Amino acid sequence: LLLFYLPDNLREGAEQKVVFITGRVHPGETPSSFVCQGIIDFLISQHPIARVLREHLVFKIAPMLNPDGVYLGNYRCSLMGFDLNRHWLDPSPWAHPTLYGVKQLIIQMYNDPKTSLEFYIDIHAHSTMMNGFMYGNVFEDEERFQRQAIFPKLLCQNAEDFSYSSTSFNRDAVKAGTGRRFLGGLLDHTSSCYTLEVSFYSYISGGTTAAVPYTEEAYMKLGRNVARTFLDYYRLDPMVEKMAIPMPRLRKEELNRVFLEYKFFLRTKQERQALGVPTPAGGEPSEHLGLDCAAPALPLGFISYFPCGPASLKDMKMYNLLLLPDQSSH
Ligand SMILES: [Zn+2]
Repeated sequence: LLLFYLPDNLREGAEQKVVFITGRVHPGETPSSFVCQGIIDFLISQHPIARVLREHLVFKIAPMLNPDGVYLGNYRCSLMGFDLNRHWLDPSPWAHPTLYGVKQLIIQMYNDPKTSLEFYIDIHAHSTMMNGFMYGNVFEDEERFQRQAIFPKLLCQNAEDFSYSSTSFNRDAVKAGTGRRFLGGLLDHTSSCYTLEVSFYSYISGGTTAAVPYTEEAYMKLGRNVARTFLDYYRLDPMVEKMAIPMPRLRKEELNRVFLEYKFFLRTKQERQALGVPTPAGGEPSEHLGLDCAAPALPLGFISYFPCGPASLKDMKMYNLLLLPDQSSH
């Protein structure tokens, strides 16, 4: 179980807003781990949005609910042959230990008056649908039912591969033992519970018809977009300004040049050739400037944007992708 927060969040008597995320309950659904990785990478980064999120929320993440199934290379079941996502109603400590442990933890949080469990998101991958989308619950309480549509709607604005129209709310009997259904019934009206699904193969973004094959990076990007959507949900945007040291004022052309240059450094030579990214004035710096290389000299404005010292290349990539979506990279 991974916990992300700033210590201030744990002040004596202060209420903790908790976002609980689980992944890989179905071992064959590998994209689930990449999405989860994207969420984690973003939350621990020095990105101003990530810092604001850590200050206001506590993220609890169980990235792999079915480690034995993953180890064995199973498609859906655990070592003992159980589909764990049908056993939330009554997990056994010896037959479904991870599920049992996580359920105990969630019930403990639910009963703790100082904790408000606001979100439960279980990450899966879907073998026939395209895009990312969510499953939510059906409630008699109209306000609660409407409120749980907000997060997927916001996510749809942030992530080009996430589809609100494929998102659905149901109460099928066959899904009664799933985390989302069980917790939706257990937790009160202040919590939202979802299954986050992402296609095994491709997505179509709004306004286009061509299917774009998913890559590991695209799955991680969806994860980063899930994380930053909490900023919109909790309307924390004004905090980001306070957190970040403003970039020096650059003329628009200068800013464009800086971004172009940076995009250049984030790609391998082959990728750049495929995309037609022009070589900067200084010439080809190296054959091996991909994500794993040592960071090139960063433009000054970028460095000062990250108050906790020079940003890692990973941070930069997130910044680049999050705030300036690069349409050419698909
Ligand atoms: Zn699944």
